[in-house]
Amino acid sequence: MYYFREGVRMKVVVLIEGVHEDKLDDEGKIIGCTEICGAITLLKAENEKEENIIVDTGNRGFEQEIITALKKEGLKPEDVGYVINTHSHFDHLANNYLFKNAKVTASGIWFNNPDRSLDLIEPANIPGIEIISTPGHAPSHISVIVKSEGKTYVIAGDAMHERYIKEGLVGFPPNQDYIDSAKKIVDMADVIIPGHGRVIQGNDLEELKQAVYKMEVK
Ligand SMILES: [Zn+2]
Ligand SMILES: [Zn+2]
Repeated sequence: MYYFREGVRMKVVVLIEGVHEDKLDDEGKIIGCTEICGAITLLKAENEKEENIIVDTGNRGFEQEIITALKKEGLKPEDVGYVINTHSHFDHLANNYLFKNAKVTASGIWFNNPDRSLDLIEPANIPGIEIISTPGHAPSHISVIVKSEGKTYVIAGDAMHERYIKEGLVGFPPNQDYIDSAKKIVDMADVIIPGHGRVIQGNDLEELKQAVYKMEVK
């Protein structure tokens, strides 16, 4: 676990909001998905001496979008010092290779770096952020916490899926760890950036909090 280092200021920019379109059968049952990409979030260092961080790098086919979104922030992929993957599902790490100068930290097994050309580091050593364990969706799932402009942001990956939670789905398969992680996240967050779906804050967060506290494993 790492705690915020004095003086490190980060601007939180959602480069690409996470998408997840379900494919349904005739009866409306979920049988797969048509499009899926985990949210890609930039933590932009406000001081040049500090490193820019990317949390999750999305699915295949989003390379150009990432480059364009970074450009709007005056950055290139080479300007990113750290990549953090919330968990090792492909829709969250397929573009890690773009960030040639980045040290990479993954929560679990790292399988998108066969030649080990990127340095792997322990999550404990990244200034400016805190990393917490949020198991349930995946056993070694992590979430990233950053404080920016007086707000606590939780970049939650797939530990938080607003629509599924509101529909009463409690992880796949339903499990208590998922509920415990979701409670931890809603209790500390002012803003949640989930892996799939819109950014959640304000009244939406209050509503979500109520749904989270109603969840139970059936
Ligand atoms: Zn995902
Ligand atoms: Zn996932």
